[in-house]
Amino acid sequence: MAKFDYDLFVIGGGSGGVRAGRLTAALGKKVAIAEEYRYGGTCVIRGCIPKKLMVYASHFSEEFEAARAFGWTLGDASFNWDTLINNKDVEVDRLEGLYQKGLNSAGAEVLETRAELVGPNEVYLVAQDKTVSAEKIMIATGGTPSRMPELPGSELCIASDEVFDLKTLPKKIVINGGGYIALEFACIFAGLGSDVTVVYRGEEILRGFDDDLRENLHLEMVAKGIEVLCMTEFKSVSKGSGGRKALTLDNGAVIEADEVMLAVGRGPMTNSLGLEKAGVETDKRGFIKVDEFSKTSSDAVWAVGDVTNRVALTPVAIHESMCFIQTEYKDNPTSPDHDLIATAVFTQPEIGTVGLSEGGAAKKYAALDVYRAHFRPLKNTISGSSQKMLMKIIVDAKSDLVLGVHILGPDAGEMAQTLGIALKTGAKKADFDRTMAVHPTAAEEFVTMYQPTYRVVNGERQQ
Ligand code: NDP
Repeated sequence: MAKFDYDLFVIGGGSGGVRAGRLTAALGKKVAIAEEYRYGGTCVIRGCIPKKLMVYASHFSEEFEAARAFGWTLGDASFNWDTLINNKDVEVDRLEGLYQKGLNSAGAEVLETRAELVGPNEVYLVAQDKTVSAEKIMIATGGTPSRMPELPGSELCIASDEVFDLKTLPKKIVINGGGYIALEFACIFAGLGSDVTVVYRGEEILRGFDDDLRENLHLEMVAKGIEVLCMTEFKSVSKGSGGRKALTLDNGAVIEADEVMLAVGRGPMTNSLGLEKAGVETDKRGFIKVDEFSKTSSDAVWAVGDVTNRVALTPVAIHESMCFIQTEYKDNPTSPDHDLIATAVFTQPEIGTVGLSEGGAAKKYAALDVYRAHFRPLKNTISGSSQKMLMKIIVDAKSDLVLGVHILGPDAGEMAQTLGIALKTGAKKADFDRTMAVHPTAAEEFVTMYQPTYRVVNGERQQ
């Protein structure tokens, strides 16, 4: 008789958990997976996918404007929030079904219940009121938006979990934060017609990204009518007139808005998970501590994705699960590779980036060659839009190694994905130079910037 009920029990049906459960079951192992909310996790249900659908929706206002310059005559365009939300829901439901179907076809037992650890090899299933055992347990419970409990009136605010199901499009929205979520939703709402204010505590939005991209995105957002207040913080939120919220800032200004949104980072979903009962340790912020193979401090428990403090991105969680399978079930110890992760911020204009920023590279390399192009994309020569495109290549002057590429403009994410392959293979600038251009594209700039725009020596820019 088997010592355990399952070979693997996965807690959490998001990107990381589903991949681990599905592939392990497909290997013929006995697998169960538990999800307390909806299969698909943050990415599918209330994150990347519905967000990107809303990004598409928000682009149309600019496209309608541009269309006129290309000879189109359009009637009065109007936007219906309910239609977008309903169609988004249909797609999210479809994807949720596919996630469950994939698990079922692989032979995993799919459970709709909250699951909590009650021992190193034991899980309590709340809906079934029963305890099961597993040789290995994978925690993939993800993250949850920070709600700023210290902010007076924070209960009046929404976070990204709620934003996908608002009953109406807010006429006025104020968003706290200067990261991915704050800026993406600022651009979504502005594109859909809302009046948007972003409040950010630091000097410039998108800390950690290349400074050029940060500054130019800020300028482009302001040019679209988004108010961006830096070095400013929320002081309190209270009920305003007519069901609105009254937000007081630390400079004393009061803004009334239909919605006030917090996008100030995310924390791990470990609440009442019973980690201590299984000997699973967390760090100061509550993220589960793992070794280079995603193993926790407990011998039978692993953790992947946003519940660990690594890189909070869907493809990273999936990669971590695939490494777990290689290590534990294929006798091929593989630790996740978190180097050179390409990423996109779906603002308008979009950001795509991979590798070191100019500032980050200057701290590590004595001399850099920076190739920079800032130009009006072909479409905007007649569309009427003044929006420019920015592209940068950061190169180690000594070895010619390409250290980073940064894009601000249409399809930046698509470009970052392909350029990520080049950087991963250790491409030199000379490899970019000997690559033939695809003409006419914006991406061709990457293979036609032959002369450095400037050099950075010991952190100082030279002309
Ligand atoms: P981010 O870490 O990107 O940004 C958080 C922002 O909130 C920062 O600007 C931060 O400021 C600010 N902040 C943090 N604490 C406070 C506070 N107490 N008061 C005021 N401001 C505060 O987190 P997000 O919530 O935007 O997104 C979470 C993660 O989800 C991202 O890091 C990313 O990994 C992932 N994500 C990825 C997307 C994509 O791939 N396109 C889209 C959305 C999310 P400061 O800079 O000063 O610390």
